[in-house]
Amino acid sequence: MSHVFPRHTKSELPVAAGGDGCYLIDAQGRRYLDCGDAAVSCLGHSNPSVIRAVQEQVEKIAFAHTGFMTSEPAEALADLLIEHAPGDLDRVYFVSGGSEATEAAIKLARQYFLEIGQPERRHVIARRQSYHGNTLGALSAGGNAWRRAQFAPMLIEMTHIAPCYEYAEKPNGESSFDYGQRVANELETEILRLGPDTVMAFMAEPVVGATLGAVPAVEGYYKRIREICDQYGVLLILDEVMCGMGRTGHLFACDHDQVAPDILCIAKGLGAGYQPIGAMMCTNRIFDAIRDGSGFFQHGHTYIGHPVATAAALAVVRELTVHDLPARAGVMGEKVQSALEAALGQHPNVGDIRGRGLFRGIELVADRDTKQPFDPAHGVAGKIKKAALAEGLICYPMSGTRDGRLGDHILLAPPFIIEDAEVDEMVGKLNNAITAVI
Ligand code: PLP
Repeated sequence: MSHVFPRHTKSELPVAAGGDGCYLIDAQGRRYLDCGDAAVSCLGHSNPSVIRAVQEQVEKIAFAHTGFMTSEPAEALADLLIEHAPGDLDRVYFVSGGSEATEAAIKLARQYFLEIGQPERRHVIARRQSYHGNTLGALSAGGNAWRRAQFAPMLIEMTHIAPCYEYAEKPNGESSFDYGQRVANELETEILRLGPDTVMAFMAEPVVGATLGAVPAVEGYYKRIREICDQYGVLLILDEVMCGMGRTGHLFACDHDQVAPDILCIAKGLGAGYQPIGAMMCTNRIFDAIRDGSGFFQHGHTYIGHPVATAAALAVVRELTVHDLPARAGVMGEKVQSALEAALGQHPNVGDIRGRGLFRGIELVADRDTKQPFDPAHGVAGKIKKAALAEGLICYPMSGTRDGRLGDHILLAPPFIIEDAEVDEMVGKLNNAITAVI
């Protein structure tokens, strides 16, 4: 009997015993095409440069607490990230994962306004149907009702505006652009309702991942969001924990929207699964306020800036940038989109196939014409996950809340090294799994 406390306590999981490119291999030697490990393994499971970087760093120094020392890989990684970062981002605060990054971003926003003498700024506005992590601050920002429900009495009060979710929420007859402007303007309405001097930040995912299945904003949405933030002195926090690090075809997903945030959160693809690591990047304006003020960011965890994790991430970012793998993700992503449309585009329960780069989502509906979601009791996405696993495919199922109802989505986020034959294999296996279930 296992003593591990798994997240799903009622199901038995295969044992991961090895990795080979895009494949995970279990203890029985079965191979699984890994297209859904929560968008982590952007380089696949056996990248020699990253493995070597981890080994070399452990041999040099495994751990040095950042309260006493910095480390070479942390310094080099911060330099490399800033070299490629959007806008005025100039400082990198390393953490151990996505929730830590968004949690730190919320606290940084608060401390920034304290340092500049605006203590009344305390509200964070986020969006419905979003996910920013599972710690209580991050969960408070997230707008996924299912994930929040049982912790509701413990969450920090934050408010949520509409997401930019064209497929489900744009009325017929309204142009994409007008729809984007209208939902972006909800931010202004909410800032005015709360009182402009009390709002510190707006937080959003450039491409929504874990609650909606790869939903990018329509053109113009983020530019309008940026304008509103600037007008009211509100910080824009972009959460690229899932969609960042090249997955959408650009190293940073917001590059596509041509908008730069004040604070940017990254994780998953940063360590590519070789080490747990995330980061929060911010502008000098924010950093200087703390440096010239109290001189101490009142937030931190023991493993921030871990030398082995930063060494792994440094090797990952070098791989991404030297081989221009984000561009490859863009090209392969178009092939995935075409293959999915060819295989599933006419399926009566496939409502939408969408995404950017190698971040693709399939929305499953009971009725294509009305876009009516499945009854949540059917657990359609979960059944497809199981059927796909039996086929040897790992894909990421999810249910998002739409008007209080659950919708089913399948997210596909394969490694950027995926080849044409593996795209065919992925789409073929997913097609088999979907048709076996619905
Ligand atoms: N933010 C986004 C957009 C995510 O998708 C996730 C995880 O899926 C998180 C934050 C939380 O990251 P982690 O699970 O590494 O804490």
